[in-house]
Amino acid sequence: MHRATKIVATIGPASNTPEILLQMIQAGLDVVRLNFSHGTADDHRQRAEFVREAARQAGREVAIMADLQGPKIRVGKFENGKIMLVAGEPFVLDADCELGNEQRAGLDYKDLPRDLKPGDVLLLNDGLIVLNVSRVIGNEIHTVVKIGGELSNNKGINRQGGGLSAPALTAKDMEDIRTAMSLGVDYVAVSFPKNATDMEMARQLANIAGAPFGIKPKMIAKIERAEAIPALQGILDASDGIMVARGDLAVEVGNAAVPALQKRMIRMARESNKFVITATQMMESMIHAPVPTRAEVSDVANAVLDGTDAVMLSAESAAGKYPVQTIETMAAICIEAEKSEQSELDKDFLDRTFTRIDQSIAMGALFTAFHLGAKAIVALTESGSTALWMSRHWTHVPIFALTPRVGSERAMALYRNVTSLHLDTNTDRDTALQQALETVVSKGYASRGDMVVLTVGEPMGQAGGTNTLKIVRVGEPY
Ligand code: PGA
Ligand code: MN
Repeated sequence: MHRATKIVATIGPASNTPEILLQMIQAGLDVVRLNFSHGTADDHRQRAEFVREAARQAGREVAIMADLQGPKIRVGKFENGKIMLVAGEPFVLDADCELGNEQRAGLDYKDLPRDLKPGDVLLLNDGLIVLNVSRVIGNEIHTVVKIGGELSNNKGINRQGGGLSAPALTAKDMEDIRTAMSLGVDYVAVSFPKNATDMEMARQLANIAGAPFGIKPKMIAKIERAEAIPALQGILDASDGIMVARGDLAVEVGNAAVPALQKRMIRMARESNKFVITATQMMESMIHAPVPTRAEVSDVANAVLDGTDAVMLSAESAAGKYPVQTIETMAAICIEAEKSEQSELDKDFLDRTFTRIDQSIAMGALFTAFHLGAKAIVALTESGSTALWMSRHWTHVPIFALTPRVGSERAMALYRNVTSLHLDTNTDRDTALQQALETVVSKGYASRGDMVVLTVGEPMGQAGGTNTLKIVRVGEPY
């Protein structure tokens, strides 16, 4: 069954063995997320090895994303591990406090008192606890509890409306980028970027750290700060893709604003020729239950209909009881939702102009395949850009991208409607085209008599060199 939408899953204690990873890949996992908010460098190294091993066994490339922790602002630890906050009572956040108690908590981000003023609203533990700031005295933030509850060690703090000044890359992130590059990851996700500059800086660091390993990772901006919304176009231009990081975003902008923002972000990403991942709580109840709720099914299906490239699992696959079933279920929802999606390619193409030759060939191939009713598009690509451009439009014609570069093969694992495959040769055009067609036919994606649209660059082997469009019938001489 062909599925266009990709699945990203976080690995953790629940999915940390080659056996489970193999089952997850067989169930439809396309991209593994290593969450650098948890675990040591050695944990991540071992997980990356397990993933590569499981992918080898499955006979399929799986990409790896390193997700940096970023400046998540947190309370410190408590004498007894946790406290109970009661509505109406005072509570102090104190940058100088070492170990918290029922009256006060420490802060890992010491500059927080500088960013706040009376009247500000703080949300703790993903918005489950709400504090109203009454006064700021030196390093102490005095608050009144608006919504109480249990608060345990190191829970996150957000300000409603955003506006906290912590830089997007911490010293830990810079260290983690180096670790990630040594593991050969394909994507780096940056947490809490405010603007394009944060992404440019992260990319520079990643390219420098990746150079000894020959890696230039794709950079993903996690949109989870209120300030990132007005800066979205600049952030998109500076990134390869974005993540709709609904967890922290919802805390900053309010839950109700998130669905409309998700739609806008997905549309803007596609129009900017960037990829987009929809994340957080998509299958939340499957952490404990073998089936999702109706609302979760609708959430995944709606993200597919919005045009997301990928849907993501966090605790469901990292710490849940049913990591494999969650992926199976998610894959089935995606396939069903894709069937109902309308293709509006002609409308989509209105007013679009192209200046690059390779992009024009990509769009020409897509238009041709759509109107001729081709069975498949087969793109021979070095960098993967032809496949990315084609996949920004929905046509129901599956795109098979063949590349001799393993880095490109993995990078394309995230692109919607793109199946990336390995090509053995990149020298002789006719041999390569022949081999590409044979690969697609032998995997059962096309058969004798099917019309297939091919794109290739001449001479071969140059990124950005696609300049040829060819239409063939499988089994007939060409
Ligand atoms: P996180 O990011 O899981 O790293 O917090 C995703 C989100 O905030 O939704
Ligand atoms: Mn987050």
